[in-house]
Amino acid sequence: MLQIPISKLPNIGSSYQNKLKRLNISTIEDLLYHFPARYEDLTIKKDFSSLSPGEKVSTEGTVWQIKSIRTRYGKTLTFATMSDADTSLDCIWFNQPYISQIIKPGQRLGLSGKADYFNNKLMLVNPEYEFIRPGVSLIHTRGLIPVYPETSGVSSKWLRSRVMVLLKDQNIQSFEFLPSEVIKKYDLEPWYQAIKNIHFPENSHLADRAKKRFAFEEFFFVQLQAQKRKLAWGKSLKTQPLNIDQEKVVEFVGNLPFHLTPAQNKSVKEILADMQKDKPMNRLLQGDVGSGKTVVATVASFITYLNGKSTLLMAPTEILATQHFQTLEALLKPYGIIVGLQTGSKKTKEKASIWVGTHALIHSKNLPKNIGLIIIDEQHRFGVEQRSVLREKGLVAHFLTMSATPIPRTMALTLYGDLDISVIYELPAGRKKIKTYVVPPEKRDKAYNFIREHINKGNQAFIICPIIDPSETLETVKSATQEWERLRKEVFPEYSVELLHGRLKSKDKDKIIHKFKSGDSNILVSTPVVEVGIDVPNATIMMVEGSDRFGLAQLHQIRGRVGRGSEQSYCLLFTESQNAEILNRLKNMEKKHIGLELAELDLEIRGPGQVYGVAQHGLPIFKIASLSDHSLIEKTRKEATELLLKDPDLKSNKYLRNKLTEQNVSPD
Ligand code: ADP
Ligand code: MG
Repeated sequence: MLQIPISKLPNIGSSYQNKLKRLNISTIEDLLYHFPARYEDLTIKKDFSSLSPGEKVSTEGTVWQIKSIRTRYGKTLTFATMSDADTSLDCIWFNQPYISQIIKPGQRLGLSGKADYFNNKLMLVNPEYEFIRPGVSLIHTRGLIPVYPETSGVSSKWLRSRVMVLLKDQNIQSFEFLPSEVIKKYDLEPWYQAIKNIHFPENSHLADRAKKRFAFEEFFFVQLQAQKRKLAWGKSLKTQPLNIDQEKVVEFVGNLPFHLTPAQNKSVKEILADMQKDKPMNRLLQGDVGSGKTVVATVASFITYLNGKSTLLMAPTEILATQHFQTLEALLKPYGIIVGLQTGSKKTKEKASIWVGTHALIHSKNLPKNIGLIIIDEQHRFGVEQRSVLREKGLVAHFLTMSATPIPRTMALTLYGDLDISVIYELPAGRKKIKTYVVPPEKRDKAYNFIREHINKGNQAFIICPIIDPSETLETVKSATQEWERLRKEVFPEYSVELLHGRLKSKDKDKIIHKFKSGDSNILVSTPVVEVGIDVPNATIMMVEGSDRFGLAQLHQIRGRVGRGSEQSYCLLFTESQNAEILNRLKNMEKKHIGLELAELDLEIRGPGQVYGVAQHGLPIFKIASLSDHSLIEKTRKEATELLLKDPDLKSNKYLRNKLTEQNVSPD
């Protein structure tokens, strides 16, 4: 039932399907798991006689009469006169003439909204309304009203109605997938109760109980995946240990144009130690943007080459792949090693020992047979897919994944129990810190002038907006599409301003990034969903809108896209917020410049998992669960392990089995 596409539901045509896609909703399950961002408290019913101006209230009454009139200026006003026990009250709606077709005298309405004076009379202005019918509870105007993340054309009201319809379905009402012992042991809500109460809670206690259940679910899935991968990895795989020629390593490192930092040296040691074993390496190399992960990976590929084996290095985009290719070629060519590039548009003709490409490289038909090492940069879920593809091809190789996401160590170890981890916790000496300022809205024009000065010197600027499209729930938050229009037309008409966001086709994305990288555009307006690894040394300003909406670790990564050249770079964090707590949290960015420190701090201050809620960085998105909840991580790990012990292939649990296959955990 849950996997049924949303298109099969009544009244959801292709236009709605597309809009819902923007909210990542394509199945019934997605819709039910599109949780409210908050609830509006309209639990108390007020009488008409007790309304006061400016107060948002829930009330109800009977329609006495309703009419629409047109004003001299062509606007439509719709008036409804309502009565409750002993008072009458007018409602007014602006420019919604159809309302007088829908609402008829004699009907009873639930109403919510603000009372205000209009023509010297207290009225409900543009209230939300719904019909009161026997046996049907109010979902829009009374209770804890769920307010959802929205997109244009899909309102919270619309979502509420759809969810309500689903909740009446028998199959939904009887669904469950957690073992009953687990539910009992941890005092969790049954699935249906939890779904019902997260959308339409009778009180906040029930909403919290629902959240507790979903937090458990979220970690439970991740733990099942990690445990399953670990079982698969440890069970069957053997590889030929590589020989490490220490002298050659010392020579290679000595010939680098710089000294490796102590953390780079340590990572190299850990990686080489792994490669000497007969169990394939499965290691995550974690380090801030610019910490120098590529050169560490290059040493590993050099060793692989000396052992007569080839290396594949994969990056998320063509541009990053090309960047890596250039780095590796420069470092390895002097040793007579041929590095090849294979992307959608280019392929090196020579027989290379090291192949660099996009993530599609692993699917290439003519992979070298003697692959010894696979390196994956900035990939979702740390190469899980690549490992399973490789296994399908019957190949075993050492795996090194690289990520700039600062995940606190304890957390990474618990969540990714199947990975070993090396951390480069420091930047190479001599790097200039990116001067960072939290900027209040009144300094906006000054900031634009500052950007102009830099562009006129030949530099470039990023402007990051938290969301793609304007949103009804987030009225004050700047959206990339709208901001782009405004900036290029009104603020920077003299410059080339480009727009980048996650909904563009990857071809178009590459084009725009390329244009920016080559200096043909001056300003890139973007959502945060763009490559973290992109190297534009000429970009010196990073301006972030609505910065309070981001976690510190995420801001740090965004900031890391400037400061890659020799010039001083700046990060301007804009916020409309005047809340002292929020401002203090942001001020940490002015003082701290190490990703992991900021991540730990974030965890302390904000707790919730949304700190890391960016899918592209390889961390699962936790809507509810908090990554600082170590005890829950432990509990779910225990239960996941036990379940897999009893039922390694999850034969008894179709839902979980499908869920894991969907997530690409290979079933062997
Ligand atoms: P990232 O970890 O973000 O992938 P890179 O590997 O791209 O970082 O390295 C960023 C830059 O730093 C590169 O230009 C690289 O040559 C340089 N670099 C790497 N290690 C050092 C070092 N130890 N000292 C100085 N520069 C270094
Ligand atoms: Mg990198």
